[in-house]
Amino acid sequence: MQTGELLYKGKAKSIYRTDKDDELLAVFRDDITAFNGEKKDEFAGKGEYNFAASAFFFDFLEKNGVKTHYLRAVDERSMIVSKLNMIPLEVIARNRAAGSVVKMFPFEEGQILDPPVVVTDYKDDERGDPSINDDLIVALGLLTPEELADVREKTLTINRLLSDFFEGLGLILVDFKIEFGRKDGMILLGDEISMDSMRLWDMSTMESFDKDVYRFDKGDLMSAYARVVEKINQWKDSHME
Ligand code: 5GP
Repeated sequence: MQTGELLYKGKAKSIYRTDKDDELLAVFRDDITAFNGEKKDEFAGKGEYNFAASAFFFDFLEKNGVKTHYLRAVDERSMIVSKLNMIPLEVIARNRAAGSVVKMFPFEEGQILDPPVVVTDYKDDERGDPSINDDLIVALGLLTPEELADVREKTLTINRLLSDFFEGLGLILVDFKIEFGRKDGMILLGDEISMDSMRLWDMSTMESFDKDVYRFDKGDLMSAYARVVEKINQWKDSHME
């Protein structure tokens, strides 16, 4: 589609200006990176799979009372979103121990975390997205104590909704990363919710259906992403109003 000025090029999405001041166009690209940009590739179709998952999850969350930046789909890899003033935090919810938390702490891989654990990284590539705590977030003026509580509550609500959803598809939502932004004094869910930003394991085989397939060369990434989107589409077909 015809796009306006490129405002921001992230590792997997590009954000363009539109003819409306309060709306942006988010285009999901085929690029993929891991380990803070050390590993880089392109997979034909990845943008479309992540777009499909993100559009579905934003819509699903909105229907369940969670406010997001998602407005509408434009084509198979682009969406119009509300312009947010993004908060430079990566909020991570974990239902099982995996990834960095297993490297840093004495957890067993796959250990159930009940209640779920919410951790936050400061989004800054040059500093390697360091882990940050609540006092530092307030001291840096990123969130007020009230907003911190709001972000935590929203994250746990999103975790519950997504975990239950994936359980119905035979998948375990191990963990995921989300980002928030401000609009008109409210905090809304922004960025994306896709297989690039979550860990999903098959409930019976514990096989990965997410970016770990790429990070750790576990198999065919596009088959894994296609499988998740296929399951989402099957769910949509069986829940047609
Ligand atoms: P970990 O801290 O174990 O590396 O990541 C926890 C979860 O958050 C994983 O699902 C991972 O994919 C996601 N995550 C953490 N940092 C990033 C990031 O910078 N970009 C994306 N897309 N996902 C991330």
